[in-house]
Amino acid sequence: MPDTASTPSALPSSVPFNNPLITGKELEYIRQAIVSKRTSGDGTFTKQCQAWLTQQLGCRMSLLTHSCTAALEMAAILADVQPGDEVILPSYTFVSTANAFVLRGATPVFVDVRPDTLNLDESKVEAAITPKTKVIAPVHYAGVSCEMDILKAIAERHNLLVIEDAAQGIRSFYKGKPVGSLGHLAAFSFHETKNVVCGEGGALAINDPALIERAEIIREKGTNRSKFFRGEVDKYTWVDVGSSFLPSDILAAFLLAQLEEVDLIIQQRMAIWNYYHQRLETLEQQEIARRPIIPADCQHNAHIYYLLVENLEVRTALIAHLKRKGIQSTFHYVPLHSAPAGLKYGRTTGELSVTDDLSDRLIRLPLGAGMTLTEAKYVSEEVLAFFNQQS
Ligand SMILES: *Cc1c(COP(=O)(O)O)cnc(C)c1O
Repeated sequence: MPDTASTPSALPSSVPFNNPLITGKELEYIRQAIVSKRTSGDGTFTKQCQAWLTQQLGCRMSLLTHSCTAALEMAAILADVQPGDEVILPSYTFVSTANAFVLRGATPVFVDVRPDTLNLDESKVEAAITPKTKVIAPVHYAGVSCEMDILKAIAERHNLLVIEDAAQGIRSFYKGKPVGSLGHLAAFSFHETKNVVCGEGGALAINDPALIERAEIIREKGTNRSKFFRGEVDKYTWVDVGSSFLPSDILAAFLLAQLEEVDLIIQQRMAIWNYYHQRLETLEQQEIARRPIIPADCQHNAHIYYLLVENLEVRTALIAHLKRKGIQSTFHYVPLHSAPAGLKYGRTTGELSVTDDLSDRLIRLPLGAGMTLTEAKYVSEEVLAFFNQQS
């Protein structure tokens, strides 16, 4: 449990950027997976994780994968994206959102983000649609949902698939509905840096029932092995393209222990997030930095606490100041549209001025369910001290 900020205690000597909470059952579940001698994919722990996800998301099916990247690659195959097709996505995202489609020969079409949430700007999506467009891939940055009603309406009008990059979105909600239940498909990440972790891991959530059968096949190397195990066919065989996307049941065992404690994890993160938000309000009042903005329709999951400072120089100096104090802070994405591979494989529509501007100014503060409020207090004080020295 985080101690309270008022408890007198020694200043932390160092604050890591990421500090996940180990909830307690991880090693026992991993032990059980190992002694069962069933350590390959789709064992009992995988099934329990999938049942948990399907129930929590209210999706039609969920499949564990070895990463969110893998889930996005599966989604791109399921969407039947072909060479020359186009996929609309933000430039301010992780490379996998684009790579998954580039691997299928498609062209990522980068659209600017909203200045408030840093999510795909739904008002600019329609202008990017061409006869080749097949998919819209919104990314829920910092676990704050995109404006999904509008994006879904656009997709419906143009007969496009919506693939949510919900890597950061576990236990986030949009108008009361879980992130990951809103598009045709959604990809989650359980990488060490996310809210719920198992080292490397991910999941594909399937909301469109028409995609279920093929999803199982693609994940099982293009075979109907899943049907065979359910007794629906008397032998299994190669029926489609596919690959190996299953994680070992040892990792699923780790993941189950985390999923079972997701409420505690988010509660702990939220305590740190809220502490920063309150303590750093003065920076916004003095127009020194802008804090995260959460729209009324969105319930977030405290995945990221960021500040937007004045410019790149201030950010670089702030990161260096914090580093001298033993505090690890970091910037985030380098925009994809102007990256070497983005220039080679993608194209842009309209100005990406918001993306270009904020990517230089965004700094992420340490945040993790294993972090204490004393650490958050120390970080906040050092952030405030930096700006006091500046003025
Ligand atoms: C972390 C992340 C990914 C990749 O997740 P992996 O599980 O590491 O493959 C993809 N997209 C976004 C937006 C992410 O934050």
